[in-house]
Order: sequence, then structure tokens, then C-alpha cells
Amino acid sequence: MATEAVHAAVAGAGHRRRRVLLFPLPLQGHINPMFHLAGVLHARGFAVTVFHPGFNAPDPSLHPAFDFVPIPDGIPRGDGDDDGAGAGGDYLQATLAGILDLNRRCKAPFRERLAALLEAAPDGGDVACLVADAHLLTLMDVARRLGVPTLALRTGSSASFRIFAAHPMLRDKGYLPARESELDAPVTLLPPAPYRVRDVMLTAGFGGHAQDQIYELVSRVVAAARTSSGLILNTFDALEHDELAVLRRDLDVPVFDVGPLHIFSPAAPSSSLLRQDRSCLEWLDSQAPASVLYVSFGSIASMSAGELVEAAWGIANSGHPFLWVLRPGLVRGATTQDQVAALPDGFDAATRGRGAVVSWAPQEEVLAHPATGAFWTHCGWNSTLESVCAGVPMLLRPCFGDQPGNARYAEHVWRAGLALDGGGGGGDGELERGKVEAAIRRLMEGEDGAGMRRRAGELKRRAAECITKAGSSCISIDKLVNHILSM
Ligand code: UDP
Repeated sequence: MATEAVHAAVAGAGHRRRRVLLFPLPLQGHINPMFHLAGVLHARGFAVTVFHPGFNAPDPSLHPAFDFVPIPDGIPRGDGDDDGAGAGGDYLQATLAGILDLNRRCKAPFRERLAALLEAAPDGGDVACLVADAHLLTLMDVARRLGVPTLALRTGSSASFRIFAAHPMLRDKGYLPARESELDAPVTLLPPAPYRVRDVMLTAGFGGHAQDQIYELVSRVVAAARTSSGLILNTFDALEHDELAVLRRDLDVPVFDVGPLHIFSPAAPSSSLLRQDRSCLEWLDSQAPASVLYVSFGSIASMSAGELVEAAWGIANSGHPFLWVLRPGLVRGATTQDQVAALPDGFDAATRGRGAVVSWAPQEEVLAHPATGAFWTHCGWNSTLESVCAGVPMLLRPCFGDQPGNARYAEHVWRAGLALDGGGGGGDGELERGKVEAAIRRLMEGEDGAGMRRRAGELKRRAAECITKAGSSCISIDKLVNHILSM
């Protein structure tokens, strides 16, 4: 069906609009793509209802086109979120570890509210399906038991989903659970990415139940996709063609590669949990084209106070202009004010006139700004995708989860990024100022960096192609809409 016909069918002559129910995982990197998807589906004529727990709840007044159903989660409010809406710090770390707990806590209240919604509308009414974050298997089961078909949104890459799905095999072959002495052993079973054990283990932890807990989490994500009526991925064909082909071969459900969602539906400011400091855009206006290093480690990754000092001197000594996001909770155990205070003596004087520090940035706009020349990133999938789509080469410093695998892709497959030695879970040790300085210079000044910038620019061009009317992602969205209408 062509786009116009799809829109007409959704709006339906004489029929009410079909309604899609959404349930994001309440973490920044999961909320953003879900709200972008909401925007895409709404633009195609669907009514949208967002279910959400109290934790990191969205502000309905910022999304007047959508309906909202709060689900009481019983999670005690921490007192550490005075710097923002709780997107940083220990409270969130605890919640990350508590994804299973969130599933359990929301199960009964979600069942009750979904049943009420279905009863209120005759024949189950206009509800077409539930699109839930793939981490919410329990809630997807609840919806199916009430007769609502489900789709899983996985907010990472195709490649990372493939790693998730390969975990049983990686256990059978003895790569996992990982041993500290074998972190650099190559894992050749998942081409084309040249992974090492450290890139597929998804946690930096060896002790306790860290690896067992990860195994349970990834098994549930894969089960969420397999038991649903389709898997939605925020990626695009030109970026992950081979990985998507493998997923389509191995999964029994349709796979919809509908990214980059932020380009289709730029809605991030309204789904941001922290207030974005837009003054940095004016500062960027005053900088030369492609001259600024943007530094941000997403909403969860953290560093020690010592690493902050090494990062600061590496940035200062590189001599390049920079925009640095010091998010609440970035430095373990410190408030934002402590973090700024923890910047080393002399840093301010050494960088006067060529640096800006903010506590949260309008990242998509920063990356798209002509003054931004490179991005020092923790390699969360949204950040990686946003960088690629803006044609910005990356300095890669992954920490945990899918980040090390994303970094391997960026460096070795797309060749649009440079791994920083001392890269947390994905690298091999603590940050050192000399290595940071050398890496920034290589990226901003050297021939290598120019090559990475060229290749990032090519990815940007291909991302722009895939969202045109005949582009792969646009076609996937048409297929997704038809699929939802057929449920
Ligand atoms: N982000 C932002 N402002 C910032 C830093 C990050 O708006 O100062 C957004 C960014 O654009 C991305 C999300 O927060 O959409 C972070 O998601 P990602 O997957 O990169 O990392 P996570 O926070 O999940 O580790």
C-alpha cells in the first residue's frame, strides 16, 4: 500500500482511528527512540497511548497529541534527583539493575489498566497492538493474554541483537561466562564484526551474578522478540545490511528496520529527562566549521574522579575547542557542582575561550551543528546512530552493555571512529591524559581523522537516502503500518 493509501486506511472512512499502545523502558536511551516511533506512527494516522511507570515519567503536557496512562510502580523515589529528573546517579544505576523488578512491579497494575482501557472501548475497540520495549517481556505477555497483539522495539543495533541471540551458543562454545584472562580472545563466530570476548560479554562485572543476570536479561529480550508479532529496530539497511539479513534468516518474526527514527521524527527535547542547555548552540555558532570536539557519555555511563581529571587534561592539552557534557552523576558519587569543582586547578585558565561545559545538551542539534567536528562518545546506540547520521567521526570509549560492540563496528566495519585506549569495559584500562590528547589530535588533525570524517559523511548521505520515499526505512515503515493494520 502506498503511504497515502495507508494513511487513509488507518484513518478509515467512517471508522475511528486505530490506536497503538506504547510502553517504553523508562531510561533515556530507550524513551527517546520510543517517542520518535510514536511520532512516526502518529504521522501515519494512528492514535497513540503511552503507558509509563512513575519512575522517569514523561510530561504529558509536552506531548499533546498522545494519551498517557500512568502505571504505579511502587518504586520509592530517591532523593538524588535534585539535579534533574533522575537521569543520572545511583538511583538510575539501581533501576538499570532492576529491569526485572520493573517488569514484576508493573505486571498487575498494567493488567488492570489495560483491561479497563479495552473494556471502555467496544469490541476491544480501536486498539491495534502494543509496541513495548523488548526489555518488558512480562508486560508483553500480559497484553497477549488480554488479546492484544505485541511488537517489540529493541532500541539497540541489529548487531547487538545478534550478540544477544548468540549468548547460548557463546556459552556452549566456552567463550562465556568470560574469564578475565581471556578478554582479548577473538570471537570469530559473528562476522563481519571483529569482536573480542570483552565486546560480547555485555558487562564489566565478573563477580557475583553479573554474568548470569546479563544472561537472563538478554534471554528475555530475545524471547520478547520471538514471541511477539515482529521486531522493530532503530537502524537502517545501508548501515547494517548483513546483520539485518542474518536476523531475518534466523528469526521467525518480521523485522522492521525503521531508523534513524530521530531523523523521521525529531522529538527529543520533549522526551528529554533533563533540561537541555540550549545556550551551547549559540556558543557553537561562534566556532569555526568542524572545529569542536563534543564530549558526552550518555545518561548512565560513569567515571571516577581520577578519570575526570585525566579526561580534562587530555582535552585541554589537545588545544582543540570542546563542548563537554558533565551530566549529574557522571562522576561516581558526585553532584554536578562537585563535578565542575573537581575539574583540575588550571583547567579553566588553560582552556579559556575555547571550551563550554553544560550539564545536558540538545545532543541531536549539537551533532548536526556545522561547528561540531568530532564526538567523544560512550557508544550508546542512540549516540552512535546520531553521530553517524550527522556525519561526525567518533572517539570511542565504551563502558558496558552493547557499547563495546557498537565501538567495534564504528572502528572496524564503518571505519568512522577511533577507539581510545583505556576504554572501560571495551578497552583496556584507565584513562590517561597523554593517550586522550593523542587520540583527539589524531581524530581532529591527522590524515586518519580526515578519512574517518569522509566515511562518516558517506554514512550520513546513505542515512539521508534511506528516509526518502523509495528509501529502505520508509518502505519498512510502510510495511510496519500495514502489518499493524493486519493484526
Ligand atoms: N542526550 C541528550 N543530551 C546529552 C546527552 C545525551 O539529549 O547531553 C541524549 C542523546 O541524544 C541520546 C540519549 O540521550 O538520544 C542517550 O542514549 P544512548 O543510547 O546514546 O546512551 P545511554 O544514555 O542509553 O547510555
